[in-house]
Amino acid sequence: MSDRVKFLLDEKDIPESWYNIVPDLPGPPPPVLHPGTGQPIGPQDLAPIFCDELIMQEVSTAPRIEIPGEVRDIYKQWRPTPLYRARRLEAALDTPAHIYYKYEGVSPAGSHKPNSAVAQAYYNKKAGVRRLVTETGAGQWGSSLAIACSWFGLDCEIYMVKVSYHQKPYRRGLMEAFGAKVYASPSDRTASGRAILAKDPNCSGSLGMAISEAVEVAAQSADTKYALGSVLNHVLLHQTVVGLECQKQMEMAGEYPEVLVGCTGGGSNFAGIAFPFLGAKLKKQKDIRVVAVEPSACPSLTKGRYAYDFGDTSHLTPLVKMHTLGSTFVPPPLHSGGLRYHGMAPLVSYCLQHGLIEATSVHQLETFQAGVQFARAEGILPAPEATHAVAATIREALRCKAEGKARTILFNLCGHGHFDLQSYMDYFAGKLKDYAYPEAEIAMALAGLPSVPVAG
Ligand SMILES: *Cc1c(COP(=O)(O)O)cnc(C)c1O
Repeated sequence: MSDRVKFLLDEKDIPESWYNIVPDLPGPPPPVLHPGTGQPIGPQDLAPIFCDELIMQEVSTAPRIEIPGEVRDIYKQWRPTPLYRARRLEAALDTPAHIYYKYEGVSPAGSHKPNSAVAQAYYNKKAGVRRLVTETGAGQWGSSLAIACSWFGLDCEIYMVKVSYHQKPYRRGLMEAFGAKVYASPSDRTASGRAILAKDPNCSGSLGMAISEAVEVAAQSADTKYALGSVLNHVLLHQTVVGLECQKQMEMAGEYPEVLVGCTGGGSNFAGIAFPFLGAKLKKQKDIRVVAVEPSACPSLTKGRYAYDFGDTSHLTPLVKMHTLGSTFVPPPLHSGGLRYHGMAPLVSYCLQHGLIEATSVHQLETFQAGVQFARAEGILPAPEATHAVAATIREALRCKAEGKARTILFNLCGHGHFDLQSYMDYFAGKLKDYAYPEAEIAMALAGLPSVPVAG
């Protein structure tokens, strides 16, 4: 084991293919269903909103999918990303644990999101699409798609969750600087937005609502497609560059992680780092404990139901089987905008259901406390979403200390918090609070789950 702090790869070490976990799973994941018929959908059902190559990736059972040269060339702008050993955090915690983190904050948007945005823009451009429409929470996905569209000469239209639009004005500025048009959601530009506003003119918005607006716009014009920043199989696939690089870097460090931690909103950064390691676990090569961390106020994995549900509030999407809090649930206005989603990626949900991973939740104040402790030790300010992974890692490291065990822990520092300083300032001013688990609202939303004719 070396005494190094930073583990860097060369451009040539950027993976040549993405890793698809599907063929390694113990059985096929439940099919996606048509909400009208309750029958499995075919590729043609998705064609109005996604281009063909992305639909093929969505249903692929190939073990590897080649990363196109043009996408790898753009990845070179910031990839491979560094892996760090958190020596100063270890010292601050006085833990025998070895803590490593993969830092995705070096990308143009400051998070892992461009890994998929670039791939999605590439395939859509190749398919002759002129414009991409999407939703964004905190603005990470929106700024990622904005720069990706700029690189491929596509127009970009973004529906940004209203509470984040006001909490994070500089994210909107970045999206506009990258050339995108940004609207606060719910908006009066779509039928779904107008219907929501008619019921609640002061609605603070949610990812589920913004998805409805973006899907509606995409479905209405032939030259426009929709792009989703998380949840879907092809998005998780694109994010596996993170874990594949990590495997090489952990080898450089001469260690193998015993515990792997990632925060979960829709599941993409978590799957990105975890799936290649889970692949090794499924092939019985190397065991590992994998922990997904979510906000206690939006706890889809720890308190949600594993059931078929819609991906959006207005029920325009197909039905997917996932851990869900109900598609009409509007999460409290947490500062981790990227984690305010009612559902979870079907593949991540499947892994939890089959005992391949664990899930835990953390309240907002503990996450900011962890974020500040991390920043003061390591000199990197984590995004509020990423502080969930930091908090769970600190819990694990303190457990190592209590048990006198020197475990190796790896977590995904999926983004920096430079656009989230207002959240940190509110935290320092004592203005942040923990939101109680919204039991009644979730019960109501779960009562409205769609009934499906086939057992999933
Ligand atoms: C979008 C985002 C998330 C949540 O999305 P996942 O798909 O669960 O990764 C988490 N962290 C950051 C920094 C994000 O930008």
